Amino acid sequence: MTLKAPYDPDNIFARILRGEIPSVKVWEDDHILAFMDVFPQSEGHVLLISKISTARTLLEIEPDALARLTEATRRTARAVDKALQPDGFQIMQFNGEAGGQTVFHLHFHIVPRWTDRQMKGHGHAPMADAETLRALADRIAAALD
Ligand code: AMP
Repeated sequence: MTLKAPYDPDNIFARILRGEIPSVKVWEDDHILAFMDVFPQSEGHVLLISKISTARTLLEIEPDALARLTEATRRTARAVDKALQPDGFQIMQFNGEAGGQTVFHLHFHIVPRWTDRQMKGHGHAPMADAETLRALADRIAAALD
């Protein structure tokens, strides 16, 4: 997938938004969905997407949708910090196949980091079980401002 291609309405995240595939939600409102990455690179790996924008990459997103998405990322990162108390965290956002992107609906990753734990590689993490993800999502949701 190049940086410039039409939005595919059947990409995995579009299907999650339509309720065609399940996701482990952390929180949502009319604009944003925060949900657990099913192949977490570390414990508490959360993804944030716009429900409104069909931007594939950062190059395409509308300023208002981007502002809402970055604020949602900040808010969720604060909850991850409170709930899981990592030593640090990474915000990741990949653009284009050559840039490491695998799902072409723009998203931000929150990946909590601990000094004594190795992070799994992007695209190389095993699938987590839904119960473990649900428990983490509940803890993060309970820590939201
Ligand atoms: P990226 O490579 O930046 O496009 O990230 C896509 C992310 O989506 C990866 O971290 C995947 O582990 C994650 N992912 C893929 N399918 C699903 C799914 N069905 N539910 C939750 N996360 C997913």
